[in-house]
Amino acid sequence: MRGVTLPGGETVPALGQGTWYMGERADRRKAEAAALRRGLDLGMTLVDTAEMYGDGGAEEVVGDAIAGRRDEVFVVSKVYPHNASRKGVPAAAERSLKRLRTDRIDLYLLHWRGRHPLAETVEAFEALRAAGKIRYWGVSNLDTSDMEELAGVGGGCAANQILYNVTRRGVEFDLLPWCAAHDVPVMAYSPIEQGRLPAGGALDIIGKRHGVDRFTVALAWVLRQPEVIAIPKAVRPEHVDANRKAADLVLTAEDLAEIDRAFPPPRRKQPLAML
Ligand code: NAP
Repeated sequence: MRGVTLPGGETVPALGQGTWYMGERADRRKAEAAALRRGLDLGMTLVDTAEMYGDGGAEEVVGDAIAGRRDEVFVVSKVYPHNASRKGVPAAAERSLKRLRTDRIDLYLLHWRGRHPLAETVEAFEALRAAGKIRYWGVSNLDTSDMEELAGVGGGCAANQILYNVTRRGVEFDLLPWCAAHDVPVMAYSPIEQGRLPAGGALDIIGKRHGVDRFTVALAWVLRQPEVIAIPKAVRPEHVDANRKAADLVLTAEDLAEIDRAFPPPRRKQPLAML
């Protein structure tokens, strides 16, 4: 599995696993944890979650999945913007740690920008880092101007998690280059557009050539860039396996040109989209 090196020098797998919509129903919890464990067995050992998902339920599912194998896993979680204050951040982190049943979160992100000043959130993140409760901090859904402002507050941002897939290429115009130039890894969320990729077009044609479906092609396309991490969410075992294949699929120049024709890159700045 290809890795992406964080600014601190640690390498994480380029292909991880998401957990949005997990932990919402008790009768699905076992299957969700099993899917995550299947992904861990296949090397997708970066797991993304958030206090928001399933109202804490997704963190509990992650807790089930990583029980007994914590050291293999790079756990990412996120704090709600309304909790991103000096006092709110450590309290939210403690609740997350409890649900995850672990003593540290590897990467803790501000889920999106809210009313609390970035400087205050960063100060709280740094305090958590000093206390060993989190190992790195980062942000999510921050556009280029927000990243500029964050850089002004101080360094240390280990990732920006943003919406990025073949149908959502706006970030290629300015945000991806900004992050590359400032050594901030990008984590692509909804990398297969929540399963809504158009059928019967370029992705299917390319998939046929490689013996995979359009979702695996789209995921391989996100992973074509060395500094980008992708975190697809999958509960069905066949989806977990198909996603793992994407990490080994190398798209040809012809494939990439076809994708550019079907999903053109941006020609001007587009505001960062969010799901
Ligand atoms: P996604 O990963 O693009 O798509 C997930 C959906 O696609 C699920 O319905 C899944 O079905 C299906 N799927 C997965 N693999 C598939 C495959 N190989 N073939 C066909 N269908 C497949 O969407 P997402 O969950 O929105 O994004 C991924 C993760 O990013 C989230 O889970 C979350 O951790 C994170 N995220 C972060 C933010 C943010 O604001 N920071 C926003 C959105 C998402 P099954 O589950 O039934 O297998």
